[in-house]
Amino acid sequence: MTKDFEKLRNDMVEYQLKTRDVKSEAVLDAMRNVERHLFVPKNLQNCAYQDSPLSIGLGQTISQPYIVAFMTEQLEPFPKMKILEIGTGSGYQAAILSYLGCEVYTIELLEELALGAKNIFTALDFKNIRVKNGNGYLGWPEEAPFDAIIVTAAPERIPEKLVEQLKEGGKMIIPVGGVYSVQLLKLIIKKDNRIIEEDLLPVRFVPLLE
Ligand code: SAH
Repeated sequence: MTKDFEKLRNDMVEYQLKTRDVKSEAVLDAMRNVERHLFVPKNLQNCAYQDSPLSIGLGQTISQPYIVAFMTEQLEPFPKMKILEIGTGSGYQAAILSYLGCEVYTIELLEELALGAKNIFTALDFKNIRVKNGNGYLGWPEEAPFDAIIVTAAPERIPEKLVEQLKEGGKMIIPVGGVYSVQLLKLIIKKDNRIIEEDLLPVRFVPLLE
């Protein structure tokens, strides 16, 4: 039986996002429209709209829908906003930002995932996304500074190079902590070359590999 994916997406927005206080209409609209099931392995498509992360192979995961929506809303995205994402993974988070009109630069360490994401962006016609196969700790200096940075794997501490590549007044959302300790999702704002840090939520992300 083929599932009615559109209904599943609408339900996901109603019961997983609105009930947890995701308020931005633009973000809710993106979550309703980007076809999350196309970003997961075929055998997991029926689970794509569940309230949980899912495996995308190579030990990596696509984040829970709520976490994607929450992180996106925290960045207050606007059309043409220049955003750096670390950890392309399935490409779903980048697609959400692209749907919102952002200029997305995304870095993935594993070549197979970087290629897979590139292919899906082409197939689904997401044009404003550039994918680089490389180490996210280094950022993307040729394209810096960025209005915002979103990190979707957890380092043990905030990478210095990423702070450097953030614009004055820019925001970074990043989970910080070890594999065996509690990770905290942090919102960082760069002001007068210093950072203001706010702890948002306890989370569990795969590690940002050194
Ligand atoms: N944003 C993704 C979820 C990513 S999971 C999505 O929407 O599907 C975290 C990803 O970070 C994995 O794909 C992993 O391979 C990648 N990663 C881990 N360490 C990295 C590093 N140092 N640089 C870039 N990517 C890294």
